Amino acid sequence: MRQLGRQAGSALTQTRTVPAPDDLRLELIEVPAGADVALEVRFEAVSEGVLATGTAIAPLAGECARCLAPMTSSVTVGFQELYLYAEGRHDKHEKYDKHEKYDEQEERDAEGLYHLDGDLLDLEPAFRDAVVLALPMSPLCREDCPGLCAECGVPLADAGPGHRHDAAVDPRWAALQQLSEQGDDEHQDRRTGAIDLQEG
Ligand SMILES: [Zn+2]
Ligand SMILES: [Zn+2]
Repeated sequence: MRQLGRQAGSALTQTRTVPAPDDLRLELIEVPAGADVALEVRFEAVSEGVLATGTAIAPLAGECARCLAPMTSSVTVGFQELYLYAEGRHDKHEKYDKHEKYDEQEERDAEGLYHLDGDLLDLEPAFRDAVVLALPMSPLCREDCPGLCAECGVPLADAGPGHRHDAAVDPRWAALQQLSEQGDDEHQDRRTGAIDLQEG
């Protein structure tokens, strides 16, 4: 960050590959921890601090929501965050002491702002927020994944378009059909019983 200087308007773009942080996952998909994330960030000096505008490309690994096959893909996210100069932090620190205890461990202050720690700034929280929002709830191995056969469970992509089953009733449905027939019989029996009682 030293290269950037503090003159408002000066800017610097950096490109680097960084290891993905832990715990970037949803139920079916994740950014594997430690995987290479391609990062390009433009740092721009503004009057209160540094504005970081980044683009990241992260690899994804998980399971197709339709056919459950293992799949890999990638996600591209953009993020922007303002990091305040440390002087601003000290001013705020005094201000907050009057009202409430300021938590030094917090990366953001009470207004949700990040602060520069010396000449370093931590891009991970901004990157993490952007990726979590971009992860697909229902990842697909391909956009038109046909999923699994509802009757036998084979992946329809492997089985081919000719995959069919006989129109014969599935045994599970046949069992239900039997149950419902029995139900009708019992119903009729009860009705017969009722008539018997009346007659008795
Ligand atoms: Zn699939
Ligand atoms: Zn089938």
